[in-house]
Amino acid sequence: MTRRCFKIKNIKVICTKCGKSYLADILQDRCDDCNEPLEVEMVKKGGIREGNLLKQNMLERYADFFPYFNTINDVSLREGFSPLLESEKLANEIGLGKLYLKNESSNPTWSFKDRGTVTGVLHAIKIGYKKIATVSSGNMAASVAAYGAKSGLKTYVFVSSQIPIEKINPIAIYNPTLVTVEGRYDLIQRQSLRLSNKYGIYMLNSDATFRVEGYKSLAFEICEQTNFDVPDYVLVPNSSGGHIRGIEKGFREFKECGLIKKVPKMVCVQAAGCSPVYNAFIAGADKVERIDKPNTLAHGIENALPLSGNQVLRMLKWNNGLCVSVTDEEIINAQATLAGTGLLLQPESAATLAAVKKLKKEKYFRGDEKVLCVLTGSGLKYTAAFERHELEQYTCKLDEMDSLLGSLQ
Ligand SMILES: *Cc1c(COP(=O)(O)O)cnc(C)c1O
Ligand SMILES: [Zn+2]
Repeated sequence: MTRRCFKIKNIKVICTKCGKSYLADILQDRCDDCNEPLEVEMVKKGGIREGNLLKQNMLERYADFFPYFNTINDVSLREGFSPLLESEKLANEIGLGKLYLKNESSNPTWSFKDRGTVTGVLHAIKIGYKKIATVSSGNMAASVAAYGAKSGLKTYVFVSSQIPIEKINPIAIYNPTLVTVEGRYDLIQRQSLRLSNKYGIYMLNSDATFRVEGYKSLAFEICEQTNFDVPDYVLVPNSSGGHIRGIEKGFREFKECGLIKKVPKMVCVQAAGCSPVYNAFIAGADKVERIDKPNTLAHGIENALPLSGNQVLRMLKWNNGLCVSVTDEEIINAQATLAGTGLLLQPESAATLAAVKKLKKEKYFRGDEKVLCVLTGSGLKYTAAFERHELEQYTCKLDEMDSLLGSLQ
């Protein structure tokens, strides 16, 4: 196996707040001066590569927009290229022009995280790292562990010791060095960052610069899947803010390259039990404040102080986007609605549909809008949510089946 490692030449990463620029050939995710996230400079010229979609992978198709990666054959698990469904039924029920559902549960580890893990791992390899790590107990941990296994890099996953075993096993199966740590989550995070610097480990956290880059691909696919007639609104459940930032950047690059006419309005969706970005947005503040006692069943977006929170606020301003918060009850209702169309998604994902319903009910949507929900992860990742539904079944003996079925006609 030959792994072609090209140096990252002339690629800059730029502070999202003050504009200070850095070179991309080292690992640096935050600005020295303002501690805000860095972002790879925009691609301003490019197009879509032709190819056989059954063979091509995501980064080959959009290679112009990832000019710093030359080959991904030994790292890719065939992430991306997820289905886009249009639900006429739900659009009619809710009262919308069009309702699109982008189903990210088709990714290799059943969430969108894979799109950013592949680019993060490629960057790590490119700048010479042999070890990667993450702090997570959810989708990001599984994703990093899987790509660590695929790429043959030594992989560390740090999780809090309070995590139940059914969440640990789907990470452990990829055989990373899994460390459960007793202590507060944010402190584990800070300590891991310090130690990974010390031991030369590439830390691939939720808003890492080259993780966010990978998320652009989701926007590219939406453009192609809608024949470049992009939706008016794209709703994304928000935790660290890495995902929504990457998607918006993808649309912006395609617009800059003349592939689409407008960038959709981005809608940042949060759970009412933990909504630091929403709170700041409503207050017109430019900084997010820590939430004291976060409490929602949508644990993937239960983030008391999002790393990219301030940048999401800045982005929503220039994008004319908005922020919505929904209750756990609304999330569970929306999860049932999605299942009623044949899609079982995580509560986090259902939050976007709950937000659509809310925006219509509150008459923010007139009724002719084209709206897209990003469904971020598989419903099988969090089976505890089933207990929140009233799931019905009939029981009978073998010789009662006939009469039961008769009575159910
Ligand atoms: C990670 C995750 C999110 C939040 O993404 P961020 O980039 O941290 O904002 C939302 N939903 C699911 C299912 C996730 O795994
Ligand atoms: Zn800065």
